[in-house]
Amino acid sequence: MASIQHIPTELEASADLALPAADELAGRFPLTPNPAPASPETYEDIMSTLAFGRKFTDHMAHMRWTREVGWTDHGVIAYGPLNLVPGASVFHYSQSVFEGIKAYKRADGSVWTFRPGYNAARINHSARRLALPEMRREDFVASLVDYVRADLKWVPEAEGASLYLRPFMFASEEFVGIHPAGVVDYYVIGSPSGRYFKNGLSGVAIWVEHEYHRAGPGGTGSAKTGGNYAASLLPQIRAEARGFSQVCFLDTWEGRYLEELGGMNMFVVMADGTVRTPELSGVILEGCTRSAILRMLREEGGDVREEKIVLADVIEGICSGAVAEVFACGTAAMVTPITRLGSDDFDVELPVGDKTRQIHRRLTDIQWGRAADPYGWTYRLA
Ligand SMILES: *Cc1c(COP(=O)(O)O)cnc(C)c1O
Repeated sequence: MASIQHIPTELEASADLALPAADELAGRFPLTPNPAPASPETYEDIMSTLAFGRKFTDHMAHMRWTREVGWTDHGVIAYGPLNLVPGASVFHYSQSVFEGIKAYKRADGSVWTFRPGYNAARINHSARRLALPEMRREDFVASLVDYVRADLKWVPEAEGASLYLRPFMFASEEFVGIHPAGVVDYYVIGSPSGRYFKNGLSGVAIWVEHEYHRAGPGGTGSAKTGGNYAASLLPQIRAEARGFSQVCFLDTWEGRYLEELGGMNMFVVMADGTVRTPELSGVILEGCTRSAILRMLREEGGDVREEKIVLADVIEGICSGAVAEVFACGTAAMVTPITRLGSDDFDVELPVGDKTRQIHRRLTDIQWGRAADPYGWTYRLA
């Protein structure tokens, strides 16, 4: 059955606008080479370990915003400690936002990324909510282009590996008083990372959290901001102590509906083939991966629904066989099968399903250029 016509969200519409080619954007962030780059031994060590988010490359992109001048000081500079005063307001009021996006090296040596226009739109969406300045989407993409071109050798070649890019901005004005900062710094750093699951897709055990929430109506849930993650850490620790690896949050009004994990969106695959995901409520984060999966499934003509999903129905469905698969998705791990859901009053298991595997393969084939990209999602950085 064909799904009803999907009206693109604001982020999707913005993501679909054409971007200039990387060669046209290159040079907006001029390079000042790191005078003391990693030694060959350190480089080898990092590139053979590929631990996610632990080690960073020789450079970083940077620009600064001031109320008087706007965005200025664009450059790619040596990666290293920042010089921040203790009175910088980010330390006190958490005025900061970030993004997560990857650079992939293909077999022919070219380096690509996935839907950078989406992340550009989202950092501006997040910035608006946190009263931070927005930036031109071309500048966001140019920061990735110039940074990746400076550190090309740090984009891993191993199967499934990538350079994880972390753009972020924060209030650096020296002022301990509550008002939106008049000085803001933006950086892009990158961490060479291996494939998330070493032996194919492995399932994770998820604790469904009744006591704590990561975000609420009218709050910052739809913005990619560190505070949401800070709020998820205590429940995360408690879930780990119970033998679960991550937490699923429920809606704050009734505690009945699935929202998302601390850093990933969720999908439920029914035995009849219907695929469901929690609707965008303003509380959950509008994932790029979520949006891509929805589009692929819709264009296949699948029955795909964004709707409220009642936790109790999912648990019952797992027990009766009506629910076949549950998975989480996000840029870091792409697609993560959920093979156990537990809480105070239930503990159920389910297998890694074919639909989950198939979606993971289709997405990663497009990202690494092993399959055609009918959506124009891939963008060549170098
Ligand atoms: C980043 C993030 C996601 C996933 O978004 P992608 O764009 O797919 O990487 C989902 N939930 C939260 C809370 C996030 O921060």
